[in-house]
Amino acid sequence: MRFYSTNSPKATVSTEQALFQSMPADKGLYMPTPLPYLGADFFSTIARQPLADIGFAISEALFGEEISKADLEELTHQAFPFETPVIDLEQGSISVLELFHGPSLAFKDVGARYMAALMSYFSKQTDKEVNILVATSGDTGGAVAMGFHNVPGVRVSILYPSGRVSDLQEKQLTTLGGNIQAFEVNGSFDDCQAIVKQAFIDAELNAHLSLSSANSINIFRLIPQGFYYVSAYGQVQKYGKPVVFSTPSGNFGNLSAGAMVQKMGLPVAHFVAATNLNHVVPSYLNTGDYVPKASVATISNAMDVGSPSNFVRLAHLYDDQFDQFKANVSGYFFDDEATKAGMQQIYEQYRYIACPHTAIGIMGLQTYLQDKQQGYMGVSLATAHPSKFKPLVEEVLSLSIDVPERLSVLSQRRKYSIQIPADYEAFKESFLHTV
Ligand SMILES: *Cc1c(COP(=O)(O)O)cnc(C)c1O
Repeated sequence: MRFYSTNSPKATVSTEQALFQSMPADKGLYMPTPLPYLGADFFSTIARQPLADIGFAISEALFGEEISKADLEELTHQAFPFETPVIDLEQGSISVLELFHGPSLAFKDVGARYMAALMSYFSKQTDKEVNILVATSGDTGGAVAMGFHNVPGVRVSILYPSGRVSDLQEKQLTTLGGNIQAFEVNGSFDDCQAIVKQAFIDAELNAHLSLSSANSINIFRLIPQGFYYVSAYGQVQKYGKPVVFSTPSGNFGNLSAGAMVQKMGLPVAHFVAATNLNHVVPSYLNTGDYVPKASVATISNAMDVGSPSNFVRLAHLYDDQFDQFKANVSGYFFDDEATKAGMQQIYEQYRYIACPHTAIGIMGLQTYLQDKQQGYMGVSLATAHPSKFKPLVEEVLSLSIDVPERLSVLSQRRKYSIQIPADYEAFKESFLHTV
């Protein structure tokens, strides 16, 4: 498999380069080329298998020329020791695809774990240690920390804003130890991101260290997200209806992953792009004008993105044709009040406890299906476990919920972080002491 940059489609790089480089020098985004068309029969054959086997079959089609079958099998099974079950809300018409059965309780586990397994595979070939740098406002860091923990050949440094992540999020970043270290920055998320960006262009650091990124710009976080659309398709195939997916979206990586497997031949009738008040993509679909904005804060904060970095990828997948984009994707958005009302309605109607992001996906799906005559099977992606937003969910639904044990055990562990001011030189000095 080769990868082109969305800014210069003619030059391509290898799988290994795209994986470790994350972002092309021309600041575009990597995309696979040629994306193989596998066809509906291929997907129907593999769709009812465990997630790891689906991942293996697709990985083999994509990377079989570069990585041996045995290695691909090992790394996909290492990445996916959990499943992504479809739960019926209304049998045969509305369901949720639960993506939160991994270690950090959010769908980002899927991408982070696959990417970790691939990096570990390549770094074993070269015997060179890889240093991952990642800035987080909470969720990504947890998935990356847990996904890369104890992965040989890879060290992870996570930068997070002091006092601005939840207690449980902080515990995910700061209690694992081993190859995971946390820098607690006395500043904002933007400060953390600025430090990481500067590190990537610091010639001195890059001269003797192999630095890499694990943010969602990396195409290898998106590719595995396609696997669970296939798994969901397999789980609802029995209803014999065309399938519509609804994806609660922020940076639009998750929806791009769906569009990518659709292009590879997975029969998807339509996608719903559901957002909060950060609605540049739904607005684009209504008007044809794409106008990125500054983000606004909402209760579905993992989707507070005003300028979605993966929009370019989605547009490429639909050949930069607005008509084609619109024929495949419908967009809806909901403000905080509507989100809370939706969480209540979903609980009352289906007895299902949805986190605010998941509720937005379900509401988008309901809105889309509302005036459709044809019988569709709707699958909405449940992106996080409700306990990740425990105080909010408990208040909105007037009930109490438990945090699953795999996460609650962390609250007893001791925090270890390296505290630094929001200053690049300070980061560099303490980072160099650790490598
Ligand atoms: C990251 C995240 C999203 C948004 O996903 P994108 O791929 O950025 O569109 C939605 N819900 C939750 C819970 C998330 O953590």
